[in-house]
Amino acid sequence: MKIVAALDTCEGLGMCEAMAPDFFEVGDDGVVEVLDDSPGEEHRTDLAAAVDACPVLALTLQG
Ligand code: SF4
Repeated sequence: MKIVAALDTCEGLGMCEAMAPDFFEVGDDGVVEVLDDSPGEEHRTDLAAAVDACPVLALTLQG
């Protein structure tokens, strides 16, 4: 599984960080940073919730 963040779409709203702080952090530049873009399967439920929470659909899970 891979997390893909469309950095040109992200508006730094921080919903993903609130849902899964181990994997997402909004930097001082107001754009999300993916802290671990190849997480283990055990994180799929949390990450799917974080991806769904992004208001501008900037996040996708692949695989
Ligand atoms: S929820 Fe979406 S817009 Fe907000 S920081 Fe995360 S990726 Fe960016």
